[in-house]
Amino acid sequence: MSEGKQRLAIGRRVRGAVLFLTAVAVPAQLFARGSQAVVIHDIVYAGARAIDPETGLDAVRNIAVDGDRIVAVSAAPLKGRRTIDARGLVAAPGFIDIHSHATTREAAGYQAKDGVATRLELEIGTWPVSAWYQAKQGRELLNYGTSVGHTAVRYFIQKGEGAAGLAALRDPMEKFGAREADEPLSDAASSRLSALLEQGLGEGAIGIGSGTQYAPGISRREMLGVTAAAARSATCLFTHIRHGSLVEPDSAFEAVQESVANAAATGACVHVAHINSMAMRDAPFMAALIANARRRGIDITTETYPWGGSVDAVRSHFFDPGWERRWGVTVGDLQSRSTGKRLTQAAFDALRAGTGDDGVIMHMNSEATIAALLRDPSVIVASDGGRIEGANGHPRSAGTFARLLGHYVRETKTIDLSEALRRITLMPAQRLEAFVPAMTRKGRLQPGMDADIVLFDPRTVGTRATYGDAARYSDGFHYVMVNGVFVVDRGKLVDGVSPGRPVSSKLKS
Ligand SMILES: [Zn+2]
Repeated sequence: MSEGKQRLAIGRRVRGAVLFLTAVAVPAQLFARGSQAVVIHDIVYAGARAIDPETGLDAVRNIAVDGDRIVAVSAAPLKGRRTIDARGLVAAPGFIDIHSHATTREAAGYQAKDGVATRLELEIGTWPVSAWYQAKQGRELLNYGTSVGHTAVRYFIQKGEGAAGLAALRDPMEKFGAREADEPLSDAASSRLSALLEQGLGEGAIGIGSGTQYAPGISRREMLGVTAAAARSATCLFTHIRHGSLVEPDSAFEAVQESVANAAATGACVHVAHINSMAMRDAPFMAALIANARRRGIDITTETYPWGGSVDAVRSHFFDPGWERRWGVTVGDLQSRSTGKRLTQAAFDALRAGTGDDGVIMHMNSEATIAALLRDPSVIVASDGGRIEGANGHPRSAGTFARLLGHYVRETKTIDLSEALRRITLMPAQRLEAFVPAMTRKGRLQPGMDADIVLFDPRTVGTRATYGDAARYSDGFHYVMVNGVFVVDRGKLVDGVSPGRPVSSKLKS
């Protein structure tokens, strides 16, 4: 039996059990009407175009929700205490963003308006893990989860593990570039690193996140050890790989090879974050390399975000000499954030030497590169979004999923709708479900599944966020439900609800 078939068989068994439990735990109300018993559900979406990537369903259906579960996806009419006329709308499983650095309620609102029901901080992760989950309990709009952060734990150990260690962690992403990042670990610190990573996994962390490039002191041996820790716990390593450059030595190519080699040597599940921004025009080739390794039994995958640009500062290390070759771009691929104009060499030199706003949009990937990644059926789509910052922000934080469905599905026809939905629902769920129990109930629009549901208008769905103004809600999402609770209702964000639940690994005791 192939791995895929085996997984499907297990999935069916699990789902059968879930269905049974749901029927017992959440009885819908029965009303006798004549000789027929009519079931009244909590919510019914009537007449939606229901798309479920796992079963291949793409048909007009009525969908019933009782409590926090989907209980029916049916061609027959259904009755609800609230019935929503969903004609003309697509109903799909709530999107699962496996690469989100967003932490604020404000950012969650933008993501909800972009169809996201579950956001996971996997690439970088956190420390301490239990405190992260506790702080969010009962307060989150969307389902949430994190990996244990390799780089964060490293800082914690290097700072002596006390109050200073914890203080250094308040925002681990801002600590990158600190002196400790360049230092290799001693043997004692390395074994402590393994112990703390395993502790974090025991507290429910979804695998290990490694911002490898941000801590150049991480040796190849250390990286192999961290990958082995992921293998021992049967979880995944999520990595921002060691290099992002087209030029050897220190190229993205070598970094992808390191990831493939470590996955092969340890048997670990490895996921390479945002291949588009690490390998630029080589990204489709790298994605194919990863897919080939996977076909040979190595458990490695990758993802992209559907944008060709990044937002950077001209005076940052990104633009140290040689940047054109490293990134495969020229000065004309840079666009001033303040004027909207493409840069000339003279304008670039002035920005680099000056003290004013040096923010630029670097158009490092062509539409053809992004389209090639989206056409590769092995590539997951995730946002890499974070804080919502108007002029300084990247539109991916607010508009990634609407861009996929509006620009790449409807406008350019790069990818068809059900395939696009598969990349942001079923695929991320399948990537995680072996060690994250909640993922067996997400990413599917089927009875027994969690009531994380999005309804959007395929004619209007689209991104309004831009590189110059990243704080704009997406268009087209009429209803977004998380665990049976509306977070977007009639196109409006709902105030005062916190239906998001923790998503954690089965290692949590
Ligand atoms: Zn990254």
